[in-house]
Amino acid sequence: MIKPHIFHGIKKGPHIFFTARIHGNEPCGEIALNRLIQNIEHGHIPLLSGQLTLISCANPKGAQENKRFIDTNMNRIFSRKLTQKHDETYEAELCDTIMDAIDDCDYFVDLHSFTEDMPPCVICIDDKNETSKSMAEECPIKRIVCDTPFLTKKGTCMSTHYAREQSKPAILVECGQHDDTQSIEIAYQSIINILNLHGMIDTSTTPSPEHEFLKITGTIHNNKDEELIFPLMEREKIELGDPLLKTSNGEIIYSPVHGNLFMRNANTPVNEEYATVYDLHNQWP
Ligand SMILES: [Zn+2]
Repeated sequence: MIKPHIFHGIKKGPHIFFTARIHGNEPCGEIALNRLIQNIEHGHIPLLSGQLTLISCANPKGAQENKRFIDTNMNRIFSRKLTQKHDETYEAELCDTIMDAIDDCDYFVDLHSFTEDMPPCVICIDDKNETSKSMAEECPIKRIVCDTPFLTKKGTCMSTHYAREQSKPAILVECGQHDDTQSIEIAYQSIINILNLHGMIDTSTTPSPEHEFLKITGTIHNNKDEELIFPLMEREKIELGDPLLKTSNGEIIYSPVHGNLFMRNANTPVNEEYATVYDLHNQWP
């Protein structure tokens, strides 16, 4: 069982919930949240208002083994139906605990990092909601990933999908590469900026840059009995018709998608994405 850290502000105010390490191999958010806990407990950062709920390590066993997950990718089962369906997995009960905390809060922020060495981004699937959008813009991160049917396809139940269903403004922050110490700073600065935005603390913030907006137009999946033949890690872009996968019968599958590539991982597990394909915009699309 995981137990959240809960802090109450001096005055009434919003209730915000931060979590990290839903994927056990992504330590930056946990380190950043633990720094915040220390700073609050030692009185360096007084909590002025509202309630702060923190689960700095959402997948303790995954963290201990430095693995993305033990039995199932927690960030794909954020629905009560799915945790019931997968109730034999290590992640199901943990996921229920996170959903309980989302039910109780007003705003939700989920901290992650990338396998690949690439710039951080904020994933804002709730891009019709002004609070979600302002939380995304407040992070000191250039790239904002907007919602598209590819992020919200059936069966992809991320933490922020669950939050959106409960009408809780939410963002997911990809802070940088898993083991890059800069990812910890990005996570921490994002947390501080968001708490300032909601008037819960009053500290100096990190200015956020001009944003660019990514619209995901497709994904490349690791399907069973198919082998990746596209030189994924060497290319920034994929074109329609590029040879993509080879089936176990030797048949070649050509790319049905085109665009810029990100979140590339050539060694992703079966049923996970090798990469995401996006178009770029200079405002909320
Ligand atoms: Zn993650």
